[in-house]
Amino acid sequence: MDKYKILKKYFGYEQFREGQEVLIDSILQGQDVLGIMPTGAGKSICYQVPALLMPGITLVISPLISLMKDQVQALNQAGIHAAYINSSLSESQISKALCLAGAGRYKIIYVAPERLETYEFMQFAQQAEISMLTVDEAHCISQWGQDFRPSYLKIVQFIQRLGKRPVISAFTATATENVKEDIACVLGLQAPKVLVTGFDRRNLYFAVETVRHKDSYVVDYVREHEAESGIIYCATRKNVDALYEKLCGEGVAVTKYHAGLSGVERKCSQDDFIYDQRPVMVATNAFGMGIDKSNVRYVIHYNMPQSLENYYQEAGRAGRDGERAECILLYSPQDVMINRFLMENKEQNSEYTQEDNAAVRERDEARLQVMTHYCTTTECLREYILRYFGESGGGCCGNCLNCLREYEETDVTEAAKKIIAGIREAKQRYGINVIAGMLAGEERAKLREYGVTALSCHGSLRELPESEIKQIINRLLEENILTVTQDRYALLRLTDLTEAVTGGVRQVILKKAKQTAEKEAASGTGRRNASTRLRRSDILNSRGLELFERLRELRTRIASEENLPPYIIFSDKTLVDMCVKAPFSREEMLQVSGVGENKYERYGERFLAAIAEYTGGIREKFYFGEPAEADAMSRSASKAGGRRSSGGKKAEFTLTAEQAAQFPYTGQYLCTEIAERLNALRDTELVKKTSGAEIFRRLQAEGCVTEVFRDGVWKKEISGKGLDAGLFMGMRMSKKGTEYEDVYCNEKAQRWIVSMMLG
Ligand code: ADP
Ligand code: ZN
Repeated sequence: MDKYKILKKYFGYEQFREGQEVLIDSILQGQDVLGIMPTGAGKSICYQVPALLMPGITLVISPLISLMKDQVQALNQAGIHAAYINSSLSESQISKALCLAGAGRYKIIYVAPERLETYEFMQFAQQAEISMLTVDEAHCISQWGQDFRPSYLKIVQFIQRLGKRPVISAFTATATENVKEDIACVLGLQAPKVLVTGFDRRNLYFAVETVRHKDSYVVDYVREHEAESGIIYCATRKNVDALYEKLCGEGVAVTKYHAGLSGVERKCSQDDFIYDQRPVMVATNAFGMGIDKSNVRYVIHYNMPQSLENYYQEAGRAGRDGERAECILLYSPQDVMINRFLMENKEQNSEYTQEDNAAVRERDEARLQVMTHYCTTTECLREYILRYFGESGGGCCGNCLNCLREYEETDVTEAAKKIIAGIREAKQRYGINVIAGMLAGEERAKLREYGVTALSCHGSLRELPESEIKQIINRLLEENILTVTQDRYALLRLTDLTEAVTGGVRQVILKKAKQTAEKEAASGTGRRNASTRLRRSDILNSRGLELFERLRELRTRIASEENLPPYIIFSDKTLVDMCVKAPFSREEMLQVSGVGENKYERYGERFLAAIAEYTGGIREKFYFGEPAEADAMSRSASKAGGRRSSGGKKAEFTLTAEQAAQFPYTGQYLCTEIAERLNALRDTELVKKTSGAEIFRRLQAEGCVTEVFRDGVWKKEISGKGLDAGLFMGMRMSKKGTEYEDVYCNEKAQRWIVSMMLG
């Protein structure tokens, strides 16, 4: 059997995802690999498929007991013999498992790192034929990482003691350079194939909301998303308890998790969540490591986390099945203070010297600032995240709140000059709160104590509310016109760029979200303006949704019969595809993505029966649009296309002929530049904005451009048709100063695109 057959037969998938095939091929050729892929990218397939093609056993080292159990259950469901050996088993269970393993019963065995040095396990390992050793969550071996586990160092000795060195494959979602080097070096990987796949999670929608009443926002959100599973992260146990009570009071099936609960309580609430008994989880960041629940539809952060690393990891627990999911951060400026407080009161590592501690403190402060800017930026949130992790996005993703929101631009250069003058007069000795208070003309005791009320710039921006002065300062920080000291005081400092503003060379523009009626309500009661909630199940029509519900009920029934989490039986994605394809026979059922032969043997007939009952054996279409469309949509649900209009208020972007005639053609434009020019021509009251991403998508639909995944990043490519239409590749500079290639349009192409936009 080859790798494609394995993928289809056991996992029910047609194609490999980006990166999977390269790693699998390398492993099969006997090369060590290091796969760095974001959560949900499909790391498991990368070692599970070759494991089935290699002669001997694959050992998988994994730090988390719950994860092992989940993986083994899923493998067994798929008809693959697998087992796990860890401290949750009794001694006699372990002996029995090892005995079966020695007799060649299992292809894949999960073990906890502690187990490697036990005599019994070593005995087994030295006799068995071990083809591959896989290290999952490999960053745990690095002392640089946040999750260093000393037991991971035991892996190295273990390998040395084996008779024959197996192929070693290591996987992690942590991408920083020193962690990557540590893994390769400490594990002693030999000329490994290193593959870093893009960190972009296209199916996730990102938003930062500044709302007055976080509680009611959450309550409304959860109500609006009834029957969906979600996680709400809070900064403290107290917050968790309070929000939990509140949601209980509202009749939500919710559970909670934090370090203050007993082990039994935690286990219980975790299970309730995983088995969808209580699909909503309120938790501190103690919850989530090793939770592999694939149908989490939203992750809300009630407070701002301490770093973007933490945020992306926690938010990334949404949408692991590839379906659309939402990541929403509820920001309030107090969150910065809470975090600083938590940082200052963090237990110091006793192995660290004073200097180490100071360095750690500095690093934490820098991370907090990056996180804070994420919350205040008006640029594309996805771009912001990707840039921080060393990638560059397309500038505007069309799938985050900032890209979808409409802004009003105000020139705040004059205010910026006064801010700079104020900082200068105060000798660059204060942070944002003191400076903003001083300029607003506040008379607070603290300000008087510092003596800033006596300065000539006291009250020089009296006409603006203090909050707006802070917004402008944040804008200046984002543009590096100001900076802050990397210590606990975060003092505002001038930079090389400051002069450009005071000298009148540089303008400062503040973008403010337009307050629509809906938005107005949002800041009060928590209703919000989410215009693209495209989800795979959105392609189902009302009959299709009904069928989907029936199939979900069947899945729940089977799950409780077999005592398995529902998503291990079939993912939501598979159920949607089942509704689209509405199979009547075994052959047709096997075409559904996620239905492999073994799953079919187990459950296929019950699902076929449910479909037959619902349809009465009559063929019917359960989705909107054309089959090809439904298919394409299930492949890239997050693309801007097929977006729902928000409550029918504004139409999708179009231009009239008169408006189009005013387009300022020029030699070359990027798609985003064309979008900006087009937006300036449109009727802002009636039609929505378009975006560079949208234009790119149209070019893609016309077969002019493609995106290919190469050397670990997405690259745009122009087809012959695209070249004929007037597209060409050119270099551009990212904000960070690195050059990259992008698609440009000449005048001919611009005329063509404008004509496509005519109503
Ligand atoms: P990771 O370990 O990288 O977080 P997983 O291995 O848990 O991700 O995979 C995430 C989800 O993607 C799982 O539901 C898995 O079945 C699915 N998946 C993996 N590879 C493919 C593929 N080639 N086609 C479709 N779905 C896939
Ligand atoms: Zn965006």
